[in-house]
Amino acid sequence: METRAISATVARFLLESKKLLINGEWMESSSSDLLPVMNPATGERLTYIAAGNEEDVDRAVAAARAALEKGDWKKMTPMDRSKLLWKIADLIDLHADELAELETLDNGKPISISRNGDVKASSNVFRYYAGWPTKIVGETNPVSNGNYLNYTVREPVGVVGQIIPWNYPLMMAAWKLAPALAVGATVILKPAEQTSLTAIRLGELLIEAGVPAGVVNIVTGTGKKAGAAIANHPRIDKVAFTGSTEVGRHIMQAGAVNIKRTSLELGGKSPNIIFADADLEAASLGASEGVFYNMGQDCTAGSRVFVQRQVYEQVLERIVQYAENLRVGNGLDPLTDIGPIVSEEQVERISSYVEIGLEEGATLMSGGKRVTDGVLKHGHFIQPTVFANARNDSRIAQEEIFGPFVSVIPFDDAEEVISLANDSIYGLGAGIWTRDIGRAHSMAKSIKSGMIWINSYGAVDPASPFGGYKMSGYGREMGAYAIDLYTETKTVWVKMD
Ligand code: ADP
Repeated sequence: METRAISATVARFLLESKKLLINGEWMESSSSDLLPVMNPATGERLTYIAAGNEEDVDRAVAAARAALEKGDWKKMTPMDRSKLLWKIADLIDLHADELAELETLDNGKPISISRNGDVKASSNVFRYYAGWPTKIVGETNPVSNGNYLNYTVREPVGVVGQIIPWNYPLMMAAWKLAPALAVGATVILKPAEQTSLTAIRLGELLIEAGVPAGVVNIVTGTGKKAGAAIANHPRIDKVAFTGSTEVGRHIMQAGAVNIKRTSLELGGKSPNIIFADADLEAASLGASEGVFYNMGQDCTAGSRVFVQRQVYEQVLERIVQYAENLRVGNGLDPLTDIGPIVSEEQVERISSYVEIGLEEGATLMSGGKRVTDGVLKHGHFIQPTVFANARNDSRIAQEEIFGPFVSVIPFDDAEEVISLANDSIYGLGAGIWTRDIGRAHSMAKSIKSGMIWINSYGAVDPASPFGGYKMSGYGREMGAYAIDLYTETKTVWVKMD
């Protein structure tokens, strides 16, 4: 079996099983139960994490509540929080190589994505929100029903549960933590059980940066135990969730217990639409990268590519060529484009859609097979897969596959493609490729999704709202929107006479 050299720093980190962070201390779960952490590229066990349970979540909530209501965190000024967030960003940058290596070992993604994508995006989001604490303002309101001064203040929403998925483990932790800390909330973070290591390392960096005890608690464990305990907890004021639509529904239902604020960033089946007048080289590349980046394990993956009929064959050929040139391998190898899928369960799910696509009558143009030869035989690898002539109402074009799997679908005109693109339970992202500026904007207006990319696909930035329509969830992360997610508005009436 292939074992690539792991740096001494990461090897040291993996040596001991990882604990829960509660009230500023690393501790075992009350049950002492552990979960193994597997390397998806080799099938080897990397280490163990603590399997948190209801009692652990209770302890974390008590710590978070105490930190919210009294102590150092409450005394910190907005400027203090700015400095703290900036320091966290600096520490992430300082440990960027180590975090990237850990992410690739744990999640499988190519090291170039970990290093230049995830880790960089994580420090960026902390740096962006470092600017916010001093700019969260209320309003004075011109009321007419008496001689009043009426003003609003923004207050932290309270104790926040943050439940995150395995596709961008560190980056999801950063997206969630940075705005919550900017407003002065306190947090119980639950990373995905498959990929908790970078969140745990981030926890160590938060302590090093000076985040007071109890402000960020990290409870690792399964969704069914630790996740559900957070979703059900009556003393958690808000849950921010990123993950599947199915679990999102559970989170909403569980939140009813105490009318929790919830924000949900869920699945997608995003259309990437290429008109015949587009720059076809750029569009084909954008469509390919838009679905194969991060092995397609991306809620905004452009997994339905619609191509206008007169250029359909040309674009399809380019996408197939792109897929066939992708190098499948261990993510630690700098030449790897497609790393392993996160788990055996996921790679099996993806494979099952190859059968479904064939049964539905779509044409398999490329890929579709598990990669099991040589050093890859113990990992969860699958070839990038391209299906042509899929029907938009077929399962492969309607269900979120969450893998390197694309359906390329022909269309004739704008009206048809708008109705096909919108015929989905999801509405997260959409790409539009055309040189006709009027058409680009009218398409942007007609597509029901939270994010539209014109002549590009998938760009994300801390200043730009991120989130979906329909069953892709609700609430927007990033920008001022995330400040709204983590604050309550209080109105104050002052009688003036
Ligand atoms: P994915 O399909 O990406 O694995 P999930 O929605 O299953 O997405 O998981 C996303 C996160 O939700 C993970 O941290 C997982 O542990 C957690 N989770 C799963 N089931 C539940 C649940 N019933 N309640 C709360 N959290 C859950």
